[in-house]
Order: sequence, then C-alpha cells, then structure tokens
Amino acid sequence: MSDEMDIAEPLRLARERIDGACRKVGRDPAEVEIVGVTKTHGPDVVRDAWEAGIRIFGENRVQEAAWKIPACVSGPEWHLIGHLQRNKVRHALELFSVIHSVDSLRLLDQIERVADESGHRPEILLEVNVSGEASKDGLAPEQVPEVVEYALGCRNVTLTGLMTMAPFAADAEQARPFFGRLRCLRDEWERAFGIGLPRLSMGMSNDYVVAVEEGATWVRLGTVLFGHRPKWRPQAEERWEP
Ligand SMILES: *Cc1c(COP(=O)(O)O)cnc(C)c1O
Repeated sequence: MSDEMDIAEPLRLARERIDGACRKVGRDPAEVEIVGVTKTHGPDVVRDAWEAGIRIFGENRVQEAAWKIPACVSGPEWHLIGHLQRNKVRHALELFSVIHSVDSLRLLDQIERVADESGHRPEILLEVNVSGEASKDGLAPEQVPEVVEYALGCRNVTLTGLMTMAPFAADAEQARPFFGRLRCLRDEWERAFGIGLPRLSMGMSNDYVVAVEEGATWVRLGTVLFGHRPKWRPQAEERWEP
C-alpha cells in the first residue's frame, strides 16, 4: 500500500535539510538534486515519488530495472548507481541516461563501443574508492587519471563527474573526510586536465547532509524517502538474460 503523503513529507524534510546544509556552507541549493533510489520497490512507489516531485530515480541492478522501468510512469530520468557488468552494458544503455558507477577502463571502453553502435550518448561518472576499503567497488584514486584521459578521447560518452560511497558508520561525521577527499581530488583533476567535472554523486540516507556540506550535487536517497526496503523477491519478469 502506498499513499502519496508517505513520500511527500519525508521528501519535504530531506529537501529542507539539504537546503539548510547549503546555506550553512554558502552553496546554492539549486546545485543539489535528489536521486530517489527505488531498488526493491515497485512501480507504484515510483509513481508516488514522481507525483511528490522527484525527477531522477536510481536503480542498482540492470535486471531489476529491465522489468521495472518499462512498467513505470514516463518522465523520470533513470540513473544506474550500482556495479555494471560489461555483458549488461547494451541493456543498461537502453534503460539509463546516466551511469554513476564506471569503475574500470575496460567498462568505460565497452560503454563507448556499445554506445557507438547503438547511438546512445550516456553521461557517466567515475566511481572512486576513496576509503580504500577492499569491499568497495571503484577506482583507486591513482587509477583515475588514466581513465579520465581515455574518457576525453571518447566520442559517445561524456564524463561529467565522480561518485563515491563512504564506509558505513553510525555517525555521519565519520563520512566527512571521504566526501571532502573526493571533492579535493575532483578539483585536482579539473586543474590537471583543464576540464569541468561538476557532478559529485555522494551521500545516502545516513550521511547526505554531511555530503552536501562537502559539495555533493546528487544525493542518492532510498530509505529516508521510501522506508525500509522490502526483502528482495525475484519477480517472474526479472528472469532476463543479456
Ligand atoms: C541503495 C543505495 C543507495 C541508497 O541507500 P539508502 O541508505 O537507502 O539511502 C545509494 N547509493 C547506492 C549505490 C545504493 O546501492
């Protein structure tokens, strides 16, 4: 069961906290957009969130998005925020206009090749593992310059920024150094390559206020907007193979 009010109020609160964080550090709140993370939720939640004013939605699995997105209201911008396997790139480009999670040169190369054939013009972010945690996806900072260099030679893919995930911590303040580090690395690579990397995708339900204070432009919010995720039940429609 879903009711539009269930989303409107948490959305209003999240927006208020984002705007407050912007004021605190002298940023323009218009620079920060919410990506509603609807993984495991159905098309009804997407519809309610769309009606409440969310315009960008994030999914982390191509198979799940493949049945869900066609069943959703049209209008939203769909972003892939989870790890992408190279054999799913073709399908991902049909579903998503932005990929936050480009984490290897081989994946970038595959996206560029497939986009060249299919005529898609994806926007991408490079996922950077700033914490160095072995369990996290993402490029090590020292691997990034080579990938940026490659992206600059791509004709179909446009690199617009960086994404990271902070290690989970009960206290959001513990995430601050990682977000600050991503912003500093961004500034460094903008100077080194003479390019703009305006997008910073960082901050989730537990740490988005700190992320905004540190420069996030896309915050990826699931639980804080939609409540706890239902346990994942594979759907018949989901049995999709590339
Ligand atoms: C699930 C997910 C989110 C949202 O997480 P919440 O804590 O529910 O806000 C954000 N980013 C990524 C990459 C995710 O997989």
